[in-house]
Amino acid sequence: MTVLTCYRCGTSLDSDADEQSGMAALSWVSARERGRDVFFCPQCARDNLRSIEGKLDSDWW
Ligand SMILES: [Zn+2]
Repeated sequence: MTVLTCYRCGTSLDSDADEQSGMAALSWVSARERGRDVFFCPQCARDNLRSIEGKLDSDWW
């Protein structure tokens, strides 16, 4: 079981739950925050695309 949890809003997705969840997981974005891998849901990824690409710390969000 692979559960993705959004680092920003806390929503979670079980990517192994069913085929639709697996497809949805593909649109999640991974990023590195303070040396560990974190994930963002599609909504937050879109809202914060610029800061993710810039590898900025998320404290200011
Ligand atoms: Zn989110």
